[in-house]
Amino acid sequence: MLKGSSTQLLDLTAEQVSSWLQSFDTVLSDCDGTIWHDDIAIEGAAEVLNTLQNRLNKKVYLITNNGLKTRRELFDRAQRLGFQLPNEHHIISPTSTIVDYLQGNGRFDTKKHKVYVVGNAAIARELKAHNIDSFRAGEREELAPTDKWQDFALREFTKEEATVNVGAVVVGWDEHFSYCKMARACHILCSNKNAAFLVTNKDAVHKYPNFHIPGTAAFVSGIEACAEINALEMGKPNPFVLEPYIKNGDLIPERTLMIGDCLKIDVGFAHNCNMRSLLVGTGSYQLDTLAKHQNLVQPEVYLPKLADLLRYL
Ligand SMILES: [Mg+2]
Repeated sequence: MLKGSSTQLLDLTAEQVSSWLQSFDTVLSDCDGTIWHDDIAIEGAAEVLNTLQNRLNKKVYLITNNGLKTRRELFDRAQRLGFQLPNEHHIISPTSTIVDYLQGNGRFDTKKHKVYVVGNAAIARELKAHNIDSFRAGEREELAPTDKWQDFALREFTKEEATVNVGAVVVGWDEHFSYCKMARACHILCSNKNAAFLVTNKDAVHKYPNFHIPGTAAFVSGIEACAEINALEMGKPNPFVLEPYIKNGDLIPERTLMIGDCLKIDVGFAHNCNMRSLLVGTGSYQLDTLAKHQNLVQPEVYLPKLADLLRYL
């Protein structure tokens, strides 16, 4: 099967699917829209991944851009929904990638430095579980009605603790995003050029059946503009996410299948990492609409839903 050919797997013979199944030995599966919708498993997805792992001896990892839960919390959800992963290491999430990055970054001293978090409390919980201090995660920070921006800046940014020993700014999805948070991140990053600037993902928009809301990319773009540097993306489609796994010999990209429901993020990630790709139609993209997205990398194979693979296993 050719890369980018969007081959409908259901049109292939059993022999062709069998030889395709033998062409990879590791499986990375996206979560939302591919194997579950929030806390509800997509029917048959667990059976497919468990069979690939337990009967066909594939290594199976779940990979998500969800920065609203720690790796442990995602592992607990996976177990609760019937996915039989051997351990937490088989979950690849932005919060765990952030920890890996900070622990491996020579300029960030985990004993001395702390992290300013624009985002939710899960980021702080993951950092704390690895003995990294952070502040302000999940908190509100807004101008008081009587404050002018000068009052806020003079009061907050002239304190030594505003920047001393702050070794990183981490941005995640934040329903309390504000001018004050942007200003604090700007002040830290402009005052200390060695501070790391990380973002859980650059998902632009979250589309729900009845409404659309801004994704993390919308928040981080504002901070990138004023800090005049780009944030490092700790989620798909940045190939950096897989580096520790490749270095440890956990996977070989050419022998790895990436399964997902999003062309830009999942199929794009497979392309960036030189992995194989399978697009499932349980998210925003279906086979008959792929032609409208010729500007994006196309998958190698397509299935309406992951459970459709079961008949070949
Ligand atoms: Mg998805």
